[in-house]
Amino acid sequence: MAIVEQIDAPAGARRRLRISSPVTREAVGEIDVQTAQDVGAALEIARKAQPAWAALSFGERARYVTRALHVLLDRHEEFIDVVVRETGKTRLEALYMEIFASCDALQYYAKRTAKILRDRPQRMHLLSLMKQLRIVYRPLGVVGIITPWNGPFILSLNPTVQALMAGNAVLLKPSEVTPYSGRLVADLFEAAGLPDGVLQVLLGDGETGQALTESDLNKISFTGSVETGRKVAEACARQLMPCTLELGGKDPMIVCRDADLERAASGALFGAFMNTGQVCCSIERVYVAEEVADEFIAKVVEKTQQLRQGANGEADIGAIFRPEQLELIERHVEDARAKGARILAGGRRNPDLEGLFYEPTVLTDVTHEMAIMRDETFGPVLPIMRVRDEEEALRLANDTRYGLSGTVWTRDKHRGVELAKRLDVGSVCVNETEMIYGVTEAPFGGLKQSGIGQVNGEAGLRGYCYAQPILVDRFGAKREQAWYPFTAKKERTMKRIMRLLWGTPLGRWMS
Ligand code: NDP
Repeated sequence: MAIVEQIDAPAGARRRLRISSPVTREAVGEIDVQTAQDVGAALEIARKAQPAWAALSFGERARYVTRALHVLLDRHEEFIDVVVRETGKTRLEALYMEIFASCDALQYYAKRTAKILRDRPQRMHLLSLMKQLRIVYRPLGVVGIITPWNGPFILSLNPTVQALMAGNAVLLKPSEVTPYSGRLVADLFEAAGLPDGVLQVLLGDGETGQALTESDLNKISFTGSVETGRKVAEACARQLMPCTLELGGKDPMIVCRDADLERAASGALFGAFMNTGQVCCSIERVYVAEEVADEFIAKVVEKTQQLRQGANGEADIGAIFRPEQLELIERHVEDARAKGARILAGGRRNPDLEGLFYEPTVLTDVTHEMAIMRDETFGPVLPIMRVRDEEEALRLANDTRYGLSGTVWTRDKHRGVELAKRLDVGSVCVNETEMIYGVTEAPFGGLKQSGIGQVNGEAGLRGYCYAQPILVDRFGAKREQAWYPFTAKKERTMKRIMRLLWGTPLGRWMS
């Protein structure tokens, strides 16, 4: 049974989808696929609502966001129910990844946007005697936010709160796999009293997402796969519409010979298996120094065997959220097995559980000829490769079309940072994993095919604005030196100024 199935609808009606739980396979609900016409109607409403929203002060907007935070604190169990029912992730995982991180985002942007986006005077290296410069952060207008199914609440809420605090109206399109978790974002802000039309959620599938990218919006903030990201970029390019693309990864973990192997092994498990491995910055491949490889691998295998799988109680590892993903994981593991990899743990669907459960899996004897070391797996698998030294680890880690993030494990933190600087990825953790997207101050984004632009923190907030410089003349002279009429005397003066500014030590100091 597919988790998302198209069901019959009367001729001329919208297409209709049934969503089923990946754990029980029971129907969770049905949605209509919203069309280009629906997107157009929503955009019209958003355009009308946005100016009044943008006219509020940061403090006034923050009051709505803070109210949303209190609603979330009060109703978080209900929100967890929705996310768990739709995804099959464990409750604790939903609490950590979806709710805790969302509370932090709501508070962070409610409290700090005024400081980050306030109008600011900007000193100029020349001209300051004669002119004043101010930088003003103006909202873009109406922003389209398109999100994936793996973190369906946080990945929808986080960009939404940033766009709203910056003064934009938002059209949010969550994944067809997790529409109800996406719709929680609208429920939350509705309960917080957000003015009508400022945030609208459009349910549907790729058709709805495509309609958004082809609408007359002011920006698309997209999180999803490289393949869809490319289509979004093409659609945005046709309209010269800005977009940020947060795409997939194949994140490497480098374990140096001096690493704390106990911490590194536990970190490898959490980094690879959290959210059943369905995290953009999951650890997807490990390079471990030969001298410590046996000990590291033994620890990883022992810890993996202790993990408990299921959707209830204190289970560590939940379900795969959709069948297509499970099939991809199986293809990668089978390809690796056929090419000589050894499976030290897992390597199969969990025979004791109904639903889409794949056992946490550890492989060795892997090579870069295998899909599992080259393409995003997005599942609970941890392929480990032995390397001669850190140089070989770096070369292999960078041998990929992806560049989202990575981790380095060593007791020498200085060396860790130096190695981090040589990884061709958007962000790196040293002796840490799965944290960086949740660190609000850290600009997050990918290099190579892992994306364009950055989200979160100051860079993310400013990405939802247009930075408008306003230059103001100080003294109101009747005419400026550079204005008409052009004369030979002005030419001589200009040349003298050039020589002074860039041809003398005093000038160079002044400029
Ligand atoms: P997809 O690219 O399949 O889908 C992402 C979103 O795009 C969904 O809402 C989808 O709708 C929509 N969509 C589908 N077709 C189009 C289209 N033609 N135009 C516009 N939108 C469209 O990604 P997944 O949902 O499968 O998510 C998993 C991927 O997301 C992984 O590669 C993962 O690494 C990446 N990801 C990246 C993150 C980052 O911050 N870098 C964070 C989290 C995930 P629908 O699902 O309804 O078809």
